[in-house]
Amino acid sequence: MKSQTLIFRLALAGYSRIAAGIPLTKLLDTPQRLLRDAVSGRPWQFRPQDNVVRIDAAKLELRETELRRELARFSKWTSRLGYAPGTAGNLSVRLDKERILATPTGCSKYLLRPSDMVITDLDGHLLSGTRNVTSEIGMHLTIYRNRPDVEAVVHAHPPIATAFASCGLALDTPLCAELVMALGSIPLAPYATPGTEELGASIEPLLPDHDAILLANHGAVTFGKDLQDAMMKMETTEHFAQVCLATCEIGSPRPLENTAVDQLKQAREKYLKNCQ
Ligand SMILES: [Zn+2]
Repeated sequence: MKSQTLIFRLALAGYSRIAAGIPLTKLLDTPQRLLRDAVSGRPWQFRPQDNVVRIDAAKLELRETELRRELARFSKWTSRLGYAPGTAGNLSVRLDKERILATPTGCSKYLLRPSDMVITDLDGHLLSGTRNVTSEIGMHLTIYRNRPDVEAVVHAHPPIATAFASCGLALDTPLCAELVMALGSIPLAPYATPGTEELGASIEPLLPDHDAILLANHGAVTFGKDLQDAMMKMETTEHFAQVCLATCEIGSPRPLENTAVDQLKQAREKYLKNCQ
């Protein structure tokens, strides 16, 4: 066979595989067969048994590596914003259907490295990691159990939102259109001792209708479709708490009219549908 014909067949074979949606890694894994088929002129067929197990494992490993990096990045972000003083706060993300990747207990969120993260099962038992599981994992697991759409949870102690939570005040006055659009309202869960099962139970009734919750005399928890989404909801919560505080200091806050709130809620529903 002329070398030009061989190159043409190889190119054609490679192109048809990519067009068929076969991952490049699979192509690279089968160069000899690719060459053989191209030389013989036989139509190439992907055999599912080829490398599937190995590639699935590699994909899972890649996902874990990426999520470990993301957890470290968003932990640092939480710390830089002043939402996690000392060793306060914890973040987690779904690794797969049966496992959660989470920040460990007793560590500065600023200093956490990807290798510090721990993996637990859906009962909070440690599956992997050199550090211990946070005592607040139960709250994270309650959220994952009740909200199958949630992929990540951020728990922190942002100062102004925590101050409202410590005064027994929810952030549910419709003062800002943006807040009603983004989060609806932010309710207050009754006090429960951190690290106990009661903490998860205290937020459970609020989970179906909210993505951000104040924890009385404790802090706040937010959750969403990924870590960035959950983190931005935490930022929005603290920002709204600051606005509420400022309006109280300035005096005579003027909440939105009911009709305006209804319109914003309708817009929010449309916005959420577009996000799906
Ligand atoms: Zn806490």
